[in-house]
Amino acid sequence: MKEYLIGLGAAVLVFLAIIGVNIIPLVLFGGLAVVGYMFLNMQGAVRFSNLGGPQGKKRSQEISFGDIGGQDTAINELGEALEFLRCPELISKMGIRPLKGVLLVGPPGTGKTMMAKAAANYTSSVFIAASGSEFIEMYAGVGAKRVRQLFAEARKKAVKQNSSSAIIFIDELEILGAKRGKNTSHMEYDQTLNQLLVEMDGVNPDDTVRILLIGATNRADMLDPALLRPGRFDRQVQVNLPDKQGRKKILEIHTRNKPLSDPGVLDNIAAATFGFSGAHLESLANEAAILAMREQSPQVMSYHFNEAIDKVILGEKLDRKPSLEEIERVSVHESGHALLSETLMPGSVSSVTIVPRGQALGFMRKNPPDDQYLYTREQLESEIMIALGGAAAEEIKYGNRSTGARGDFKACWDTARQIVEAGLSSLGIVHADDIPPDSLFQECKNIIMVLEEQTIKLLRDNRGALFSLASSIQKEETLDRQRFVEIIH
Ligand code: ATP
Repeated sequence: MKEYLIGLGAAVLVFLAIIGVNIIPLVLFGGLAVVGYMFLNMQGAVRFSNLGGPQGKKRSQEISFGDIGGQDTAINELGEALEFLRCPELISKMGIRPLKGVLLVGPPGTGKTMMAKAAANYTSSVFIAASGSEFIEMYAGVGAKRVRQLFAEARKKAVKQNSSSAIIFIDELEILGAKRGKNTSHMEYDQTLNQLLVEMDGVNPDDTVRILLIGATNRADMLDPALLRPGRFDRQVQVNLPDKQGRKKILEIHTRNKPLSDPGVLDNIAAATFGFSGAHLESLANEAAILAMREQSPQVMSYHFNEAIDKVILGEKLDRKPSLEEIERVSVHESGHALLSETLMPGSVSSVTIVPRGQALGFMRKNPPDDQYLYTREQLESEIMIALGGAAAEEIKYGNRSTGARGDFKACWDTARQIVEAGLSSLGIVHADDIPPDSLFQECKNIIMVLEEQTIKLLRDNRGALFSLASSIQKEETLDRQRFVEIIH
């Protein structure tokens, strides 16, 4: 059709030129119209690629399960659901009801999107991605229509690309699939969710295009029970933060293309990054390489990684220079944290710095010896004392405190609350939701007051070490572990 119109337009122009009409304005106008048409088409293409159009398909092909580190259990669990797409005959011979939906549950940046793309690659399926928020509009019915379009699009693309299966990935599923009746404009939300349920029920193992829906969320508790019942998202796969081995694997993946001075350094970096997600680790590897490049170093060294950890946790170094008094106070504050940390947990201080970064004027980085998931009351109390150490040191030196301890106090309070809610306080065994606010407040306050006294006493008894550490930090700005140990001994 497009070709006919172009041909007809050209013929008309030639005819008008022959009979002597000035066609220049017409040609200019036509040119503008073509440019406008192409621009609108590009907009459409961008929107389409968001929904996993050709670009989505291309990217998914590049990711395989080998590119995902630290998620072996999750990958194995997902793998079983994929057999339905890979060998449907075997599944039906065994009389197995194929899975229609798999829910990936875990914190942000742990690799859920990567897993869905790798799944599409592994099963040679068409990959279509959308985010829960894309379905929510002010106008009733729009979301439901988008859900229908998404499934239709998946089928159409699979047929066009000669594929017998399609994977639809919906990120932030809790926005689209929250419990019905919970939202203020609930009619629109409910219609959209209902449509998703209808589409899922319509997926049939004998369809020419087999469809598997993969949802991702970090709030599975918010999802409507109808979504989680057997026959819908009947498999939940936990995609957790990686453990030490997992972090090392992820670092290896993201440093494959980087010249490292010593690949052995990744062991230490993996140990020092407890709580980091895959996305944090990718950013860490990238930042380390950027720091090496800035210094014109031909290789990425261990100290580049260490600096990158601070950058990922706290943000970029700031040019803003605090006043001399502030620098002195921050040095005392950080010395308080560091001295307590080393006294209560020997070997725990990795570095201390007063170089401002992000929101922090200084920072003491701890070196967790091993990943830890369970804590005793004593360990939690030590955490509280280390956090209180900054303000206590200021008090010993100046007889007053500053606003610099605000974040520390919040952390103390959260840890004290953890002690109470875990049944480790004098309140005994409690249900977190049923503790009267007054009792919770009083118990947290008591725990912190006792520990505050102990913290101040401990630092007073070691004030010589505290002050010499503070003056070294003030002079040298950053102390690594080796230098820190030299000073306190
Ligand atoms: P969100 O919940 O915020 O959407 P997600 O769990 O879907 O996050 P991804 O988008 O898959 O996370 O990961 C973001 C980036 O982090 C990836 O492109 C990759 O570079 C890195 N990454 C995350 N997890 C891993 C992992 N397990 N192995 C390797 N790289 C990872």
